[in-house]
Amino acid sequence: MSRRFLSIGECMVELSQAGDGLLRKGFAGDTFNTAWYARACLAADWSVDYFTALGDDAMSDEMLAFIDTSGIGTSLIRRIRGRTPGLYMINLKNGERSFSYWRDSSAARSLAADPDRLREAVESAAVIYFSGITLAILPHEDAETLLAEVRRAKAAGKLVVFDPNIRPRLWSSYDVMHTTISEGARSSVLVMPSFDDEAAHFGDDSIEATIHRYRALGAVDIVVKNGADGVTLNFAGEQTFVPAEKVKKVVDTTSAGDSFNGAFLARYLEAGDAPAAARFAAKVAARVVSEHGALVVREKLGLDGG
Ligand code: ADP
Repeated sequence: MSRRFLSIGECMVELSQAGDGLLRKGFAGDTFNTAWYARACLAADWSVDYFTALGDDAMSDEMLAFIDTSGIGTSLIRRIRGRTPGLYMINLKNGERSFSYWRDSSAARSLAADPDRLREAVESAAVIYFSGITLAILPHEDAETLLAEVRRAKAAGKLVVFDPNIRPRLWSSYDVMHTTISEGARSSVLVMPSFDDEAAHFGDDSIEATIHRYRALGAVDIVVKNGADGVTLNFAGEQTFVPAEKVKKVVDTTSAGDSFNGAFLARYLEAGDAPAAARFAAKVAARVVSEHGALVVREKLGLDGG
């Protein structure tokens, strides 16, 4: 089987405060962040590819070059004439962070509008990763196309991985959000939710309830992340708890869950030992929350120490 990890979704231009009213430009987005950490943690004989759509402007060119220099494959990325990437800004007020988004007409919204290209990409991969945000940004019909493709991949024995990453403001209604996220989970093998999101938006009163709901939908394996309170794994019915690492000072929790997912999958794909992969991912995520920004460079992840 191919050793290709395919992540599907939207990478955005990120603007963060750099002091004196200056803004620093970066690139980030949930599924891209996970691809980044998977790339950092996977052996060199694995390829990691990003599947999205970009425009034909200079910012799209720059993002493409950034993805490429990150060691992530860009050959499947669709370019659409006249479109631009989505953008978000991190605002800081009295130490509190808030986000403003400009993504309503981003090129990534058309990532599944070319079904042949999507099928080819999914067929070329052994692992397919997508999220509730990926589904939320797509027109209804295209979300159906993507779901049909990942269902085919699941039926073909591929590892389809889904992080519900619930963001109500991206959805037209709670109903559509609940139905589509449930369909995402049903179409996947491994589901990696964050308990606080599931409790807030699906009303789960315990981690058990989250596991039970996703298993009932048809997910085979589940990893429930719960911030500093660790993760609960349920692999084919067998349950294990793995605590989080102690962190001296939490600096920035952006992409904690995304980095956990990328690091977890990298180790899980190499050795098939889910608890060991979760212990490794907890270490990586602990480093990520100790540093600024979504993408922490490999040298700061402490990978060589295991
Ligand atoms: P998300 O970012 O998706 O909400 P979580 O907050 O559950 O995800 O965090 C994901 C992982 O990051 C956790 O499972 C844990 O390993 C690590 N993590 C997050 N916050 C902390 C923290 N305060 N201390 C130590 N580890 C943390």
